[in-house]
Amino acid sequence: MLRTVAGRRNDSELSDLERRDVFARQILQVTTVAPLANLVNVLSMCALLAYVVPPGHDEFRLIWGTAALLVVLNSVRVWIPRVILKDRYRPKHTTRYDYWALMLEVILLGLLVVILAAAMLPVIDSSRKLVLIATFAGVMGAGAVALSTVRSIAVVWILVHSIGLLAVILPKGTTEYTVLSYQLVVYTVTLVIGVVYLWASFRSRCLAEFAAAAERQTVSLLLDDFEGGTRDWLWDVDNTGTLSHTSIRLSQISGIAVSELRVLSLRGLLDRLEVGSTKSGRTALAVIDDHLERLMPFREVVVPVRAGGVDRWWSLSGQPRVTETSEFLGWRGVGSDVTEKYNYERRILRLAATDGLTGLPNRRTFGTELVAALGSLRPEEQVFVGILDLDNFKSVNDTLGHPVGDKLLISVAARLNRASAGVICARIGGDEFGLIVRESRERDGYAMLAHYLEALREPFYVNGNRIEIRASIGYASAPADSDDADTLVMSADLALYAAKSAGKNRVGRYSPALHIQASERASALQELGSAIEARQFELYYQPQVLAENGRVEGFEALLRWNHPVRGLLTPRHFIDVAEETGLIVPLGLQVLQMACTEAATWPESTYVTVNVSPAQLISTGFGERVLDALELSGLPSKRLQLEITETGTVDGLGVAELDRLRATGIAIALDDFGTGYSSFESLKKLPVDILKIDRSFITELREGDSAVVTSIVEVAKALGMQSLAEGVETAEQLRLLRGAGCELVQGYYISEPLPAAEVTEYLKGAQGKAQPTAVSCGVRRPCGWSRR
Ligand code: C2E
Ligand code: CA
Ligand code: CA
Repeated sequence: MLRTVAGRRNDSELSDLERRDVFARQILQVTTVAPLANLVNVLSMCALLAYVVPPGHDEFRLIWGTAALLVVLNSVRVWIPRVILKDRYRPKHTTRYDYWALMLEVILLGLLVVILAAAMLPVIDSSRKLVLIATFAGVMGAGAVALSTVRSIAVVWILVHSIGLLAVILPKGTTEYTVLSYQLVVYTVTLVIGVVYLWASFRSRCLAEFAAAAERQTVSLLLDDFEGGTRDWLWDVDNTGTLSHTSIRLSQISGIAVSELRVLSLRGLLDRLEVGSTKSGRTALAVIDDHLERLMPFREVVVPVRAGGVDRWWSLSGQPRVTETSEFLGWRGVGSDVTEKYNYERRILRLAATDGLTGLPNRRTFGTELVAALGSLRPEEQVFVGILDLDNFKSVNDTLGHPVGDKLLISVAARLNRASAGVICARIGGDEFGLIVRESRERDGYAMLAHYLEALREPFYVNGNRIEIRASIGYASAPADSDDADTLVMSADLALYAAKSAGKNRVGRYSPALHIQASERASALQELGSAIEARQFELYYQPQVLAENGRVEGFEALLRWNHPVRGLLTPRHFIDVAEETGLIVPLGLQVLQMACTEAATWPESTYVTVNVSPAQLISTGFGERVLDALELSGLPSKRLQLEITETGTVDGLGVAELDRLRATGIAIALDDFGTGYSSFESLKKLPVDILKIDRSFITELREGDSAVVTSIVEVAKALGMQSLAEGVETAEQLRLLRGAGCELVQGYYISEPLPAAEVTEYLKGAQGKAQPTAVSCGVRRPCGWSRR
């Protein structure tokens, strides 16, 4: 513990060594003033011998003068080695010896003066007496002052004089001597008090010096110790503002020589290290300057420095050093190189702000960026908040496994990031990405968002799989829809959901009406379970016919919910909810049973095809359920077809089950072909009999632009599969499909899905009207084919 105020210490706290040291200084002090004191003594002795000792006392004069000279010379003997030879702190016995020598000298000199007074007072006249007494008092006082640093000697000096003189004058009994005696006593007491006071102040000065020296020593030790093992250092600025403690460590770390450091101020040092060249540096300097000026301690101010040509970060703390009496002594503080820690913290902050998998900003950062964008919105500007969600990503995960799913996400993120010039693109959920676009016109905002879907159009290749991924985007804009970040995100979410329901792979704008749909969805979520139990579902059947002649081959079973309040609902209102909740499994079972039971009443040549979701396919005992349904309904297995999607099967999962079912005679159709991730390699391994070309290809069919469909048909043929075109809406499409060699067609052009009760009647009519050439009529309601 450092002591800044030495006065607090007392003798008992001094170590032996210190006590000895104080003593040595006391003696030294006396011997230092000895020449002056001796000069005074010699002069006064000369005066006394010359004037006070009257003529006729030559013998006394000689003896007394010689004795006094010898005593004075003794003090010179002490004085020479100590003062001239600077032989200061000699071993203790020397100091002790000097003390006793001095004591002896003092007593002898005092006695000599008393002897002089005793011998002369009776024989000299009153004017000589006056000189004698005055000189006596002067010698006594001057000696007391000169000896005051050694209290005991000074007191002995006073007492020898005082008691000696009293012994001489008191017996005389005259009035003048009696008065003189009183004066002498008062003088003696005053001198003793003065001596004690002088001694005390000398001693406390000594102690203060000790404390200061000890403190310096401790600080040095601490500094060396402190700097020994760390990247930290102490700095010390004196009251003139220059760096007084300049360590090797500081020199090493700053790249500035110790000699140069010594003439620098703290501020000068920071300027040398180019702290002011950066914004953060200037901010830190302002803080430090302010504290230096107000003499306020500062803590861990982080400053960027350029030390030895390298950019580093230092942390500086400082405390003003002020005495109890408010005397400013300077500053002292610690500095440390915190570069690693600082970089680490910044990395942590960066990590906290980014998504670990893709490296894109994360949901939290998305939120703060959105709030910032809304806060700095200019009057003519709009902020578009988009949420992009990958279509069918869950099936990629389910079928190809999570490692592939993760790699796909990384590639998707990289592509989105590349596409986002000036747009903030963050990963805000599993396969959800947040987009913030600033544009002044709605049209530009929309185009910017649509451009992201475009960026994903090219297929991805992950672990040998060719993956076609599509996405849907929902968006809302500020200030039109709201200027609150949370509300905007929620609205964009609704728009996304709507975009998905409307068929995916599109950009959907938020509209207040979506809230109604959202509540429908919420109610579907609540009601679905009980609706399955209450058997509120029925099947509609859409015919699948030969492209060549329109002969009905079978029907696809399409699910409808006969909702007690909302009426007949198509799958887009509930199928996602059913899949998300897993209710698709019991619902799918009902569908199978219904489809088989109803199809069993149809003509023997007509099959039924049933949609099966991936979740259903991989649910335990799926194959058993299918076979049970057939057995229960009595439908032969060759009249049942199952429609699966690519995403539901590409992985080994479910394939074995399909193989088993196929072996019993059930046909498998691959639904929505071309929309998922298609690889002809994996297609080869799939147990599929029919390839259903997705409606989007049929919609795009143009005269002279049927290459895609033609090649799909070719591939199907090569793999021994039949091809079926979905969503055929025009005679033109039908004509082109026939030209491409597609065997089966299905769509509104042939017939919309029919209620179960109308199937038999439809079959009768269709059979009667089947004409191979009918399709060439070119009208929407074909001559030969019935379209309801
Ligand atoms: P999907 O399997 O691709 O079924 C074809 C959908 O296209 C049906 O819609 C059908 O009504 C519609 N469609 C048929 N012809 C045309 C046309 O010419 N133009 C247009 N624009 N659309 C046409 P739906 O019935 O709303 O079914 C939608 C989807 O719901 C189905 O798509 C299927 O994926 C799913 N789904 C339907 N029923 C079931 C089911 O029982 N189980 C499962 N798991 N999913 C089902
Ligand atoms: Ca289907
Ligand atoms: Ca389909």
